[in-house]
Amino acid sequence: TRSRSGYIPDEAATLALGAALAAAVTPGLVIYLQGDLGAGKTTLTRGFLTALGHTGRVKSPTYTLVESYQLPRLTAHHFDLYRFADPDEWVDAGFRDYFDADSVCLVEWPDKAAGLLPPADLVMELDVVGDGRTFVLSANSEHGTQCLNRITF
Ligand code: ADP
Ligand code: MG
Repeated sequence: TRSRSGYIPDEAATLALGAALAAAVTPGLVIYLQGDLGAGKTTLTRGFLTALGHTGRVKSPTYTLVESYQLPRLTAHHFDLYRFADPDEWVDAGFRDYFDADSVCLVEWPDKAAGLLPPADLVMELDVVGDGRTFVLSANSEHGTQCLNRITF
């Protein structure tokens, strides 16, 4: 399977989808989170991190650009590049080093750093439809496909 899609009717379903994704990932995976403001990208990330053992809150990294989480099974880096404008900052902040074999990276607004970001293994597209959301999860690599095939949702 190269893609999975469906309807997530409420916030709880978005959290559950994030948890299902968490159960399927292995370190080194890069996940782009696409969709407009309010589509549920950060909510999905919250479900993902909680399922991997994070107990505190999940801050939207709108100003810091990234929040990192040392979790029992892996390290997760959550990027929000909405306010990203300066390619030099990417280099200066050492962001490329976050994309290593021990980490899973989730990236909101990846288009803002096009040309700098490593390619996605998985792309999660969320869209507002009625009171809920639709999702399309696509695999762009062998690693992504293996992960996609393990997802039970
Ligand atoms: P983004 O990070 O994409 O800007 P957020 O995750 O901050 O979006 O979510 C925006 C709002 O959408 C939140 O109030 C959240 O509760 C709500 N939400 C998340 N998933 C769903 C869903 N499947 N159906 C309806 N509302 C949702
Ligand atoms: Mg967000």
